[in-house]
Amino acid sequence: MGRVIAIANQKGGVGKTTTCVNLAASMAATRRKVLVIDLDPQGNATMASGVDKYEVPRTAYELLVDEVPFAQVVVSETSGGYDLIAANSDVTAAEIRLMEVFARESRLRTALAGVREQYDYIFIDCPPSLNLLTVNAMSAADSVLVPMQCEYFALEGLTALVDTISKLAAVVNPALCIEGILRTMYDHRNRLANEVSDQLKQHFGDKVYRTIIPRNVRLAEAPSFGAPAMYYDKSSLGAKAYLALAGEILRREEQLATPA
Ligand code: ADP
Ligand code: MG
Repeated sequence: MGRVIAIANQKGGVGKTTTCVNLAASMAATRRKVLVIDLDPQGNATMASGVDKYEVPRTAYELLVDEVPFAQVVVSETSGGYDLIAANSDVTAAEIRLMEVFARESRLRTALAGVREQYDYIFIDCPPSLNLLTVNAMSAADSVLVPMQCEYFALEGLTALVDTISKLAAVVNPALCIEGILRTMYDHRNRLANEVSDQLKQHFGDKVYRTIIPRNVRLAEAPSFGAPAMYYDKSSLGAKAYLALAGEILRREEQLATPA
């Protein structure tokens, strides 16, 4: 059965969407069946997957609010080799409409109940806030992957986020765990980044991925070509880093599956 991983951090611009589409494409390239769910009304993951958010007939709105069956909402033609539940500004309305519905925090989990087994991995791109959409993601997910930039105050924000995740999990999804913490937009020449990175490892130990995503202009350019970096410039350091991350996640899982 597919593992559902929410990619979340209440801060904007930390690399959530970049991680979501590039990790999903890397997993798909290893012949895994992958689904991306865009829950951010900005629709950046949708556009970065080569799907026009202005043209897409249905989005996460229909899935969550109108309870349109998954098969009628999913987009199977993306540039990343994965399936997609799209988002656009309609999803902002979903956040408001959800307030009024029954079981508002578990709509996504219910929508995925019958489709999880079709996928090896389901990645959810969360909006940069802890709203009802993010709560739906946390409620549907097995784990949370937190991308972060190693800058001043990052650790403080991360501790607060981890705290919020555990409080939220206690209410909506007690089995939720931290999948891993990913250092993004990393510059090895930056002394502060190295210091924050060391502290991060002290605090969170094995939860910090060994793979580090470097600051790489190809990762920033790829969305304007409507494709993950590996289909825009496969030799770029950014594309290679996300392939390495996919490998690390797969290896971790194999180790957990094999008894010591
Ligand atoms: P979020 O989804 O958390 O808001 P994004 O993934 O959209 O963050 O990233 C914010 C901006 O930084 C985007 O313009 C993106 O292209 C750029 N970016 C993300 N990761 C990298 C990276 N490793 N190197 C260079 N630019 C990056
Ligand atoms: Mg984003």
